[in-house]
Amino acid sequence: MSIEQIAVIGAGTMGNGIAQVCAVAGYQVLLVDVAEAALARGVATLSKNLERQVNKGTLDAARASAAQARIHTSTDYARLSTAQLVIEAATENLQLKQRILQQVAANVAPDCLIATNTSSLSVTELAASIEYPERFIGVHFFNPVPMMALVEISRGLQTSDGTYAQALLVTEKLGKTPITAGNRPGFVVNRILVPMINEAIFVRQEGLASAEDIDTGMRLGCNQPIGPLALADLIGLDTLLAIMEAFHEGFNDSKYRPAPLLKEMVAAGWLGRKSGRGFFTY
Ligand code: NAD
Repeated sequence: MSIEQIAVIGAGTMGNGIAQVCAVAGYQVLLVDVAEAALARGVATLSKNLERQVNKGTLDAARASAAQARIHTSTDYARLSTAQLVIEAATENLQLKQRILQQVAANVAPDCLIATNTSSLSVTELAASIEYPERFIGVHFFNPVPMMALVEISRGLQTSDGTYAQALLVTEKLGKTPITAGNRPGFVVNRILVPMINEAIFVRQEGLASAEDIDTGMRLGCNQPIGPLALADLIGLDTLLAIMEAFHEGFNDSKYRPAPLLKEMVAAGWLGRKSGRGFFTY
């Protein structure tokens, strides 16, 4: 099957970025959200990002305006009927995503591929909510989507070889580099990254070193572009705590227990950059 039209469900942080890279790669894109206001915000963000790429000289103006013209929006799931691939990038909530996927499956052709951008939910469990689950797969983009080269492709138990091959092809056509990960919480990158940040928080909690020295250590000793505690502040401590809790529960393993200091800072409302205070002040 040749893919010409991609629908993206959810026009938020990830959805508008995914819509942008699909349109730049030449696909017709339908962006779907629950409210016109969310669609307008998503399109405004991606327009600004396209303009920024043009100003930086990384995208030529004609290609940017052609991409913009390929993006359509709707709040009506019936419009999905002409898509060959649907990428679900709505709010991270199992019941909500199951409902959305059932709505998607009811409106697309039986051979339409359906993908989820979930960061933490089970691809197998999401696949089980639709008819023909062999056409379902995880495609985990990174934020900000237009800048980040990686996509983690995750097969559910039901995913067919054909669906997997198509997902690899589309990812490469988007100019991204795919890696293949099993269906486990955090896939590969967050599974390694987030416990590393949690360990940095344990080190801070023990008073072994100052926040500045921990970050300097990992920047200069491991060539990390940003220290783990500054990265924690950037991601948001509440988000990190939710991920560690999902790992702790998902793997049933105490090595994923969140650092008590992380819990306490979240309880204090010290969430990092977004609240003005985390391991550093902003
Ligand atoms: P977001 O909150 O920015 O956007 C979610 C969008 O989904 C909102 O616009 C919301 O209106 C929309 N939505 C809610 N219900 C809907 C429905 N029934 N139909 C259509 N749209 C609906 O969230 P986000 O950060 O873009 O995350 C989206 C997904 O991507 C999540 O699964 C998340 O885990 C995953 N993800 C996020 C990041 C990140 O850094 N933010 C990175 C990788 C993956």
